[in-house]
Amino acid sequence: MNQHKLVIRGGTVLDGSGAPGRVGDVLVVDRRIADVGRVEAEAEEIDARGLAVAPGFVDLHSHSDFTLLVDPRAVSAIHQGVTTEVVGNCGFGCFPIRDPAMASRAIYGYTDERTITWSSAGEYLDELEAARPAVNVASLVPNGQLRLATLGLADRPADATELGEMEELLRESLDEGAWGYSTGLEYAPEQAATEDEVTALARQAPFYATHTRRRDEGAAEAVAEALRTADRAEVRLQVSHLVPRNGIEESRRCIELVDAARHRGQDVAFDMHTRTFGLTNLYAVLPPWALGAERDELAEILRDPARRDAMRGHRSILGAGGDWSRVVLLDNDVWPEHGRRSIAAIAADRGQAPLDAAYDLLLDGVDDLHRLMVIMNAYTEEQQREAFSHPLCVPGSDATTLAPDGPLADAFFHGAYTWAAWFWRFMVRDERLLGPEEAVHRLTGAPAARIGLDDRGVLRPGSRADVVVFDPAALADRGTTFEPNRLAVGMRHVLVNGVHTLRDGQLTGERGGEVLRR
Ligand SMILES: [Zn+2]
Repeated sequence: MNQHKLVIRGGTVLDGSGAPGRVGDVLVVDRRIADVGRVEAEAEEIDARGLAVAPGFVDLHSHSDFTLLVDPRAVSAIHQGVTTEVVGNCGFGCFPIRDPAMASRAIYGYTDERTITWSSAGEYLDELEAARPAVNVASLVPNGQLRLATLGLADRPADATELGEMEELLRESLDEGAWGYSTGLEYAPEQAATEDEVTALARQAPFYATHTRRRDEGAAEAVAEALRTADRAEVRLQVSHLVPRNGIEESRRCIELVDAARHRGQDVAFDMHTRTFGLTNLYAVLPPWALGAERDELAEILRDPARRDAMRGHRSILGAGGDWSRVVLLDNDVWPEHGRRSIAAIAADRGQAPLDAAYDLLLDGVDDLHRLMVIMNAYTEEQQREAFSHPLCVPGSDATTLAPDGPLADAFFHGAYTWAAWFWRFMVRDERLLGPEEAVHRLTGAPAARIGLDDRGVLRPGSRADVVVFDPAALADRGTTFEPNRLAVGMRHVLVNGVHTLRDGQLTGERGGEVLRR
């Protein structure tokens, strides 16, 4: 049998373990690393002198479940050296599905371009495999879909029968290859899930990632709930994007809780996205009973002063502590004149209360509510510096993969094009808070170990040949708040399972990702 051999010569090898870089060679034979150090073999060569050689980056917090079906090239990710994505986070994801229309509410980047023809985890993973993604993909089982499949939009705790049904769906999904369980307890479909309900479900899984119930006021209490849940369920815990939206003090309380749990022996870590703002739909201001309405009924609700009053008390993710100047509408074709303006400014113009302005904006966008997206300025660089300096923290995109051409060209999701490159530029080069070996560890070995991948995230003989070669002085993000869709720069070569996907900074058109089943 003819083996394909490739040697990456003379780069500074950062092996993903956190060990200091050493100049050496990396030999790839077919889909695996064959040797690291001094390699004499006859092989195709990549000259890596002056460059860094590392394992492919692992995105522990991705929402690419659906976009990889629409465009499997994962261009935004490959240009940053990402070779593995963990999807199914925050209670969002592509299975299990009973009613596709209902399920689409908990799928990031959902469009009608791709019909949902699958229902189970196994069927979804088959579908993904058939799409041949450029990156490896592992998925969690999203609680949002478990609930939508079982209770629909019912805004109440599950009864015993429903909980039993959710446990069964979760176990099936894990049996079919999912790696753990995730919740998004702050989101409408999951808000009514009780701590006991979540604990019973988490108990079925080896790994539990949670977007906690409160991420502003009360954030630390919500982290405490996550720790109790995981402790009672005896499951490995990942607190998703731990840093709260209400300042450095709350941030420190959250981190202290994690530290204290670690000291007690609990297996817990956390991650953070790389934005100083959150991105979501403006319709997040609506309570579940309004969100569940069909188009015409919702329009009625939004028009009716009495029902507006009934909605005002809803505690929404967009509350921003009542400071609507922090919530900024993005460019859109419903209200183009208000793109890049805050809800506070729009409301002031219209002589309205901010919530009424939001309801009016939604009323005009009621045909397709996804067109009205907002960012919420919520985090500071001080919070980022402290979180990412913490040894238990890894970065994640908290975004979908995108591409500047093709079916996703007009989509955006802050972080997609920037997260890993930002992490390197900000933490290693600009702020000098992490050494290169530690930064690489946080992008590779640490997240791989967290999810349970033992043959990725490290460069050693026998491991999968997910390898990147980059210029450590040049790797950087270029996307900005209002122009996010710019490819990162500085990445030179990306191998995914030995398949040369980026060569000299250019896509080769090859796609070598694997759908990973536990
Ligand atoms: Zn989340």
